[in-house]
Amino acid sequence: MPRKPVCFGCLAAGILLAMTAGAAAQRGALAVDGLRAFSHVEKLVGFGPRPTGSPAIAKAQAYIIEALKKLNLQVEAQDFLATTPNGAISMKNIVGKTRPSRDSVVILASHYDTKLIASTSFVGANDGGSSTGLLLDLARVLSQRRDASLGIWFVFFDGEEAQQEWSETDSLYGSRHFVERLKAGPHFPSVKAMILMDMVGDRDLKLENDASSTSWLMAMARKSASELGYENYLATAQRAIVDDHIPFIRAGIPAVDLIDLDYGFNHSFWHTSNDTLDKISPKSLKIVGDIVVRLIDKLSRKP
Ligand SMILES: [Zn+2]
Repeated sequence: MPRKPVCFGCLAAGILLAMTAGAAAQRGALAVDGLRAFSHVEKLVGFGPRPTGSPAIAKAQAYIIEALKKLNLQVEAQDFLATTPNGAISMKNIVGKTRPSRDSVVILASHYDTKLIASTSFVGANDGGSSTGLLLDLARVLSQRRDASLGIWFVFFDGEEAQQEWSETDSLYGSRHFVERLKAGPHFPSVKAMILMDMVGDRDLKLENDASSTSWLMAMARKSASELGYENYLATAQRAIVDDHIPFIRAGIPAVDLIDLDYGFNHSFWHTSNDTLDKISPKSLKIVGDIVVRLIDKLSRKP
């Protein structure tokens, strides 16, 4: 077979094309992808209702751990036995760490359990699913940054939901346990801030101006949103929210909760069988993800 003559123009064009494709892939790798985050939520919802201690939550745990390992993160499972009004229940927090040797750490977190609701198929696409899917895509994005000065821990809490009625003792099992362990360990002084995401997938996104969050960190998050042109997605009126960020604030760690607590007309989709995939959107996940990435950038420049 005769050898084809080499076309130097084609070769140059080919190299240019390859470089452009490479640059595009690099850009894609460094930005949150709403569709990727959404596809993680689809997987989680596909396991069915995922209350603490259920066979379905075990599938969600395996899925999260595998996804973090694929990103070459250092993965730890915190197993503990929680005392609840429904008896002792085995729970598991999952932690993925990037750049674990850094002495300045930011924690990004979400709960991944869904509330146990008898006689209802509550799959928690938004409540439990959305923030978990987004956190997995943020792990992909933020672990690939070479220039980053911060260590980032991606923390997935079990047992955020009450077993029966929400109270100080019947809620936030995973985050309370995590903070107790953190305080007892050597890394406590390294943790500079905690960013919580919860119910961030609502198609009609409006992030709360949470009065319980650390004020300078909330201001920084809102500034990040405004700079990105996302001010329309910020609620103005303040309200105080109790969520997985509270144990951190009580321990003296600055923390912010990015949450939309107005889900459906009069919050009517919340904790009901209406919390399904069609109520959330890749676009909302992308918006919140972009805000978090920009907030991390600001935190990395903060002395
Ligand atoms: Zn809930």
